[in-house]
Amino acid sequence: MKKETKNLSWSKIIQLHLRSIADIHRLFPKLYPYMIVQRILDALKPYISIYISAQLINELAGLRRAEVLWFWVFLAISYAVVIALISNLLNYVKNNQTAFFGSRKNQGLLTAKLLSMDYADMDNQNTRDLYYQIMQNENWMNWGIQRTFQLFPNIVKDVTSIIGAIALTYSLFTIPVPDTAGRLTLLNHPLFVPALFLLMIGISALSGFCLSKAAAHTSDNTESAKFSNRLNSFYGKLGSQTKRAADIRLYKQQTISLHYFTHYNIWGLDSKLAKESAGAVGIYSAIADGISALFTGIVYVFSCLKAWTGAFGVGSITQYVGAVTALSGSLSSLVRLVGEMKVNAEYLEITYDFLDIPNSMYQGSLTTEKRSDRQYEVEFQDVSFQYSGTDRWALRHVNVKFQIGSRLAVVGENGSGKTTFIKLLCRLYDPQEGRILLNGIDIRKYNYRDYMNIFSVVFQDFQLLSQPLGANVAGCKAYDRERAKKALINAGFGERLASLPEGLDTQLYKDFSEDGVVISGGEAQKIAIARALYKDAPFIILDEPTAALDPIAEAEIYAQFNQISGDRTAIYISHRLSSCRFCDEILVFDKGEIVQKGSHETLVTLENGKYHELWHAQAQYYAEQ
Ligand code: ADP
Repeated sequence: MKKETKNLSWSKIIQLHLRSIADIHRLFPKLYPYMIVQRILDALKPYISIYISAQLINELAGLRRAEVLWFWVFLAISYAVVIALISNLLNYVKNNQTAFFGSRKNQGLLTAKLLSMDYADMDNQNTRDLYYQIMQNENWMNWGIQRTFQLFPNIVKDVTSIIGAIALTYSLFTIPVPDTAGRLTLLNHPLFVPALFLLMIGISALSGFCLSKAAAHTSDNTESAKFSNRLNSFYGKLGSQTKRAADIRLYKQQTISLHYFTHYNIWGLDSKLAKESAGAVGIYSAIADGISALFTGIVYVFSCLKAWTGAFGVGSITQYVGAVTALSGSLSSLVRLVGEMKVNAEYLEITYDFLDIPNSMYQGSLTTEKRSDRQYEVEFQDVSFQYSGTDRWALRHVNVKFQIGSRLAVVGENGSGKTTFIKLLCRLYDPQEGRILLNGIDIRKYNYRDYMNIFSVVFQDFQLLSQPLGANVAGCKAYDRERAKKALINAGFGERLASLPEGLDTQLYKDFSEDGVVISGGEAQKIAIARALYKDAPFIILDEPTAALDPIAEAEIYAQFNQISGDRTAIYISHRLSSCRFCDEILVFDKGEIVQKGSHETLVTLENGKYHELWHAQAQYYAEQ
């Protein structure tokens, strides 16, 4: 698989890099100032040594004055000490700043974006694809913002190095060869300097070009590397996942994993990438190095000839050769970095496509007011909804009005639209057709956070955090302990709570603490229910959080919950009809539509109805059981 190459304009390439530099600076304000000072010092460091050495050699080969020699020796030593001190200090600060740079940067940009985007976008396959693509690009050679982090200071270093080299080599071209030098006075020809300069630029550009070709070749493997990284990140972790340990052993899943490693791994010694390293990538890098060496040779000859004519001392040869070698190295490195910028811009574009996903959900400003009488009435008016990327209606022409304080059951087979109905009610998605009204006003007109506040939902796949129990229930660190305790007791967790020595402060799970408590699925579900109760919202919704339990246990929990939900409007979702018989009204979903409404007693008698069909199918199953 070859990466598609886009031809981005240079203004776009620079704009993308400036934006990523600004983002890095925003997240790590001290990082670049330190790194840049450090890189400037790094760039100048060799030149100062070169210059001092040249002066020492010139003096040794010339007048040999002790005080002058001592002066240069003193300068060389103090310079080395001062530079070592500053450099180490800056390095220490920089390392401190860059510790976990990758994950801290991702937390500040990618995760922050994921957390702030509309739920509908988060749940969209394109969004997930973009996100994984960015992560893969980073894993594979640090492309994207991670690459900018190094690129920018290195460009500063190369530019400084070029300026330093020009300052040190300036006199190589300006000091004339004496008239006594015979044919070598040709070196004074006015065209000699520009010719040599052009040669130098040409050679450096060629060497940089070869290096960037090598980088582009490696980048061509991005697609296969992405896939390989994906395999690695999935199969590589398989062995360490406790949840999978039993399945792996029982079904010999390690055999399938090894198959993937051997057949799709691009990192192997005989892989295409390994062959390319010995082929195109290696050859381009070798040519680049060879060209640079050739260039140093030319400058060597030029400075030796000039020194031979007596234009300057032998010490200056060290200075010129050292400086010009560094100049050539920095020029080719700069060309390579500029080439890398071109490649990197394509990856940055993907990153910003992701970060720029707009929050397009309309945000109203009306407040829902926390009403103590809980008089909130919701109505679905001819609501239809399709998930993005599908052409099937998950909900079609749904009309329903919830009676305040009533118990409503939503039943139907798997895939009939029950969860979608709840997600629309909570405005996790907006319907394509129809409206949902809260107290007669379209829910889009309310402030979104306010609107969310009127719902407590326990979803099927609820998630608890590896945090203390009380913090899980309250959703924050500082909370009302009595209220949290009461919610847990009401949710049926009282006995277990009493048995926990640390009570509400018990750490859940062992991710962050050896003393963490691993709770069972049923206990987790009770905590999730307590969390919903603690929120004390006017609507309380249970979306089959009990799917793992048997029908009798589920029915018990629902009945118990019926008592504790008090004067709230409660909605129960289940594909087990028996669990919800106590409800005032039952909505029967089938293929995204509400096909029946009514009480259990009425619905069960309607022989041609869906409810009757489902009820008898399930009753027969349980009877057989
Ligand atoms: P239920 O809760 O009754 O089991 P759902 O509301 O979860 O049903 O699903 C209704 C339909 O929408 C199903 O066909 C399901 O495959 C589809 N669906 C659910 N979630 C998504 C999603 N995120 N993207 C695409 N289709 C979905």
